[in-house]
Amino acid sequence: MAECVFCKRADNDPYIFGETCQRGGLRFHKNCLYHASNLTQRGEDNEGFFGFLLPDIQQELQRVAQKKCCICQKWGASVRCHHQRCSCTFHFPCGRERGCVSQFFGEYRSFCWQHAPKQQVRLVPQEHRQCTVCMEAVEEHLSFTTLTCPACNTAHFHRYCVQRQALIAARHRFHCLFCWDMETFQAEMLKLGINIPSM
Ligand SMILES: [Zn+2]
Ligand SMILES: [Zn+2]
Ligand SMILES: [Zn+2]
Ligand SMILES: [Zn+2]
Ligand SMILES: [Zn+2]
Repeated sequence: MAECVFCKRADNDPYIFGETCQRGGLRFHKNCLYHASNLTQRGEDNEGFFGFLLPDIQQELQRVAQKKCCICQKWGASVRCHHQRCSCTFHFPCGRERGCVSQFFGEYRSFCWQHAPKQQVRLVPQEHRQCTVCMEAVEEHLSFTTLTCPACNTAHFHRYCVQRQALIAARHRFHCLFCWDMETFQAEMLKLGINIPSM
């Protein structure tokens, strides 16, 4: 299968890359478009690639051709850390593997693994810590891959599992599966880079 022009990867797991759009021999991951630092969506949702117009995409590709990924050291790194004094740029999937956070609201900011927002919650000691979504074990400590609900401080989730749940439930239904909190839970998940679609 053809690779995404931005990240050069052919993987298409929608819970990591978002949907994929292929047109005229070009293929893009939705998340690679959304998080390319100097790219804005200027078309309607059904125009171009997810609303991103080809001339804008080409301009962004030209810009990032000179940007080296601080993770894989290859060129074409389109995502920039938003932290003021950080010059780290990376490919979206490289960032995902290294613990970088890209947010899906407001300015769609991204942060490298050093500056990524982290949860400030203190974990209550528990015998068998498991993911509330898949029931498999989670890590002993909160991390990029192990998240907790700030409202009950009891439910834990794998990032992958909670992202999948968010895409299915969307804004009007996405809640903590343990305490049913929506507001605090959604705000925290957005901050941590979980994509909660509006519908
Ligand atoms: Zn991509
Ligand atoms: Zn890379
Ligand atoms: Zn940074
Ligand atoms: Zn899980
Ligand atoms: Zn909860």
